[in-house]
Amino acid sequence: MPARGGCGPGVGLRRGPDRFVRPLALAPGSVTSVTVTGPGAPVAFSAEPAPSRYPALVIPPTPQSAEQPRRPVALTLRKPLFLPGRTEVPTPMKLTVVGCSGSFPSQDSACSSYLVEADGYRLLLDMGNGALGELQRHCGLYDLDAIVLSHLHADHCIDMCGYFVARYYRFEGGRPASIPVYGPEGTERRLTTAYADTPSEKSMSEVFDFHTLHGGGEFTAGPLNVRVEQVSHPVEAYGFRIEHEGSVLTYSGDTGECDEVGSLAENADLFLCEASFTHGKEDIPGLHLNGLQAGKYAQAAGVRRLVLTHVPPWTDARANLRDARSAYAGPVELARPGAVYEI
Ligand SMILES: [Zn+2]
Ligand SMILES: [Zn+2]
Repeated sequence: MPARGGCGPGVGLRRGPDRFVRPLALAPGSVTSVTVTGPGAPVAFSAEPAPSRYPALVIPPTPQSAEQPRRPVALTLRKPLFLPGRTEVPTPMKLTVVGCSGSFPSQDSACSSYLVEADGYRLLLDMGNGALGELQRHCGLYDLDAIVLSHLHADHCIDMCGYFVARYYRFEGGRPASIPVYGPEGTERRLTTAYADTPSEKSMSEVFDFHTLHGGGEFTAGPLNVRVEQVSHPVEAYGFRIEHEGSVLTYSGDTGECDEVGSLAENADLFLCEASFTHGKEDIPGLHLNGLQAGKYAQAAGVRRLVLTHVPPWTDARANLRDARSAYAGPVELARPGAVYEI
């Protein structure tokens, strides 16, 4: 189960796909102690965090005696680690579900919005209704480095209007530098129209640096490589394959069945896939997927984990979960606000 936001329980380590030992789960906070348990008596020690955006711990040599041969140990930690002999360790890509309700907000969740972090870089996927408030539970208002909008339906972009206000009229003064915003053709015009009375038609571009997405395209956002494919939806819409240090996160966006979904998800570590419809209930091509279809894509693509999202409040999410499980042999769960995944 993913840890909710806030100070979660202790976490473990796993061997990464390459040379790195990677923390499985991180929790915010200022804990600086590490407890090591292994053969023999547990050993405890502490260290000071490094003065960086992501404070890290330095592990001193494990004080094991000759009678206690070195064997794998379980670590409990709350920060990324520096390993002996290394000056830096890349942080794993982290996904935080800011909002996951489909089409309109539910009692429990804002609409689509997902925070992707790696190496101190923060990219937000979508900013639907209610997402701006929830986002502030997970990072500072001005801590985003880039925003990607999958399409211009309100449940994926409308809180950009409020975010424009926060950046353009920053109460503390000193307007922040513009950040890149990637979206479909006409994103700037649409958002300006939605806000209605910006000081000028170009005011949004003073705080947002707009870029137009194209199917088959690719761009780099900080340490993240983002592949873009157009998916099947009534408006211009995109899905994304985000890679960092060999790890892959795929986000379907809003889509009906199309080859691009399977292509983006190929061997992904985590596949965040919409499941708006219910198998046997709605059948409208080119609009949304149901749980069964999401499960089939996940199975065919060989993903390591499936997270169903964008389930509207009027849809039986448990039914969609059961349908996905019937088609996909790997771990699958429903997205929930505040859930954190390390990828
Ligand atoms: Zn939507
Ligand atoms: Zn949509």
